[in-house]
Amino acid sequence: MNLKQALLTFLENNLFLKNGTCPICGKVLFATDRFLCHQCEDDLPIISTPTCVQCGRPIFRANREVCSPCAKLNLPFAVGYTHLNYEDSGKKLVHAIKFKDRPHLGIWVGTQMGEAIAKYQWINHVDLIIPVPLHPHRLEERGYNQSEKIAEGIQQGLSQKHSRVPAIVTDILIRSRDTPHQIGQGREERLCNLTGAFNVETIEYIQNKTVLLVDDVLTTGATLAETSATLLEAGAAQVCIATLCAVAE
Ligand SMILES: [Zn+2]
Ligand SMILES: [Zn+2]
Repeated sequence: MNLKQALLTFLENNLFLKNGTCPICGKVLFATDRFLCHQCEDDLPIISTPTCVQCGRPIFRANREVCSPCAKLNLPFAVGYTHLNYEDSGKKLVHAIKFKDRPHLGIWVGTQMGEAIAKYQWINHVDLIIPVPLHPHRLEERGYNQSEKIAEGIQQGLSQKHSRVPAIVTDILIRSRDTPHQIGQGREERLCNLTGAFNVETIEYIQNKTVLLVDDVLTTGATLAETSATLLEAGAAQVCIATLCAVAE
């Protein structure tokens, strides 16, 4: 190894993260950064306004506990937690986890979610964590399910806070039908598209269980409503949800 190579290797190992750029602003990451640059990490749009008690979506109107989609459509969630607002850097973060081959970013931000969720009483009643499944074709394309990575992070965060750590189960809820990307569709169109898209295998396993369903983004709530309904019909006692990002009411 010549001197130049040795110097480059030293810099890669000690100063910069290998192949690392911040997925939000594009700056080169230093070894002291983790998955985002310090600035973007500090600026993450962590939700600080009141949230819907059912789905976790931020709500801005005072004296209401439930957002209008949950109230109008009687969405079947017992309780919900959302970490970030789905805007600017929140969107870029989700995009990097889903489409830029950064599964570890999902685990990292999921850990923060788990640490936050550990503060709530309801987590003590959760028996199983189920990530919203991808269709096998999508899973093969992407190589991992982003919601599963977020769920792994949630487990780590819960365990760091010495909270009860429910098991992650990925072979009970199955996406039996591939559905087109839902961007730009209205809620009703989305629900129609999703009807019958999920199945529960081994029904016995979820009888009377409280499930924490994990997804990356809560927009209209159509995917989570359909998956929750499938689990409840199959015998789950109740479904709580945790999403990385949500569109405000
Ligand atoms: Zn950055
Ligand atoms: Zn809601």
